[in-house]
Amino acid sequence: MATGSPRLALARYMEFYGGAADKLMGETIPYLDGYTVYTLREPHGVTGHIVPWNYPMQIIGRSVGAALATGNACVLKPAEDACLTALAFASLAKEAGLPDGALNVVPGLGSEAGAALSAHPGVQHISFTGSVATGAAVQAAAAANVVPVTLELGGKSPQLVFADADLDAALPFLVNAGIQNCGQTCSASSRILVERSRYDELLTKMAERYAALRVGRAVDDFDVGPLISAKQRDLVAGFLDQGSDLEVAARPILGDLPEAGYYIAPTLFAGASGDHALAQQEIFGPVQVVIPFDDEAEAVRLANGTDYGLVASVWTRDGARQMRLARAIKAGQVFINNYGAGGGVELPFGGVGKSGHGREKGFEALYGFTTLKTVAACHG
Ligand code: NAD
Repeated sequence: MATGSPRLALARYMEFYGGAADKLMGETIPYLDGYTVYTLREPHGVTGHIVPWNYPMQIIGRSVGAALATGNACVLKPAEDACLTALAFASLAKEAGLPDGALNVVPGLGSEAGAALSAHPGVQHISFTGSVATGAAVQAAAAANVVPVTLELGGKSPQLVFADADLDAALPFLVNAGIQNCGQTCSASSRILVERSRYDELLTKMAERYAALRVGRAVDDFDVGPLISAKQRDLVAGFLDQGSDLEVAARPILGDLPEAGYYIAPTLFAGASGDHALAQQEIFGPVQVVIPFDDEAEAVRLANGTDYGLVASVWTRDGARQMRLARAIKAGQVFINNYGAGGGVELPFGGVGKSGHGREKGFEALYGFTTLKTVAACHG
C-alpha cells in the first residue's frame, strides 16, 4: 500500500510494526548430540532517535515504531525546525496508553541535545537520520560507548533512462522525484542519466513539464512549495550559482508568491559532466541535472560515480538489462520502471557509501532494533 501523505505514513508505520511485534522469532540450530540451541531476539534497551526536519512524522514513525515494537524504550531528538510534530506524537501516544518512559522527546539544538544523546552512556543504540557530517559525528560519539548506530544519510540518486524506455511513463517520475517536497527529500532523484539517442527528446519533454510547474503555498496544492528556511534557500541558491557554467534547460517563471516563505524556482540543468559539483553534491532543493551516456557500462559508471548510494531507478524494457543493473548499481534500493514504488513502509530502506548503513523500514528494521542471543542447553 502506498504511503501518500506524511500523516498516513506515520499511521501505517504504527500499524505495520504493531502487527509485526509478535512475528519476530528466533531459530533453533541443529548442533551436537545432547544440545538444544536456539536464538532469542532481545531489545537493545534504551534507543536514541535523532531525526531531521524534512519528513518529521514519517521518519519518527519508521524509527520509533520499529524500536517500540521490539521492546525498546525511545529517546527522540527532533530537528530544531520541526519539533512540534514529535511533541504532538508523544502526547497522542500517551493518550493511547503507551506506558510512561517508553517514549521520551528531548527537543533542543543538535549541538547540545543531539550531541548529549549520542554520547550518553545510558543509550544502547542510536538511529540517526540526517546529513553526512552530523552522522559521522554521531557515530564517533557512539563509538566511545561501543554502541551500534544506524545511519540514514543523504543521496544523489540517479534515474537511468535507456533508449528503449517508455518515456511517457517515465516522465512524471523523472520530474516529480526531483521536485517532491521542494527537493528536500533524501531519496530525491537529482541526476537523470539518459542514453544519448533520446537525450534531446527527454530534455524537451522534461523542460515542458518544468515550464508547467506551479510554485506556491503547499497547502494550496501547488506542485512546488517553499523551502523550509532562509538558510536552506541560501544553500540552494549557492548551488544554483555553481551551475552558472551549465545550460539552464528549464526554470519556470515564478508568479505572485506570498511574502512569507522561502521560494526558489525549480531548475533543470543540462551540459554537466558526471564530476560537476551539481552532479556530485546533495543539493536538497528542486534542482536536477540531465547527463547523456553512450552505453550500459558508462551508465553504470555514472550511476555509481558519487560518494552516495541511496536509491536508483532504471527505465528499460529489456529484462536482462533490468536484472544486470539491479545488481551493478550501488544503492540500498533499485527501482525498475518506477521510482520509489509509492514509498511503502514494507520496503527496507537505507544506503551504502556515504548514504549510510543499517536498514530501516520493512521487517528488516526489526533485526536492527534487536540484539541476538544464542542459548545452548547441554542436556545429554
Ligand atoms: P542535520 O544532520 O543537520 O540534522 C539532523 C538531526 O541531527 C537534527 O535533529 C539535528 O538537530 C541533529 N544534530 C545536529 N548536530 C548534531 C550533533 N552534533 N550531534 C547530534 N545530533 C545533531 O540534517 P538536516 O539538515 O536536518 O537534514 C537534512 C539531511 O538529512 C540531508 O542530508 C538528507 O539527505 C538527510 N536525510 C536522510 C534521510 C534518509 O532516510 N536517508 C531522510 C531524511 C533526510
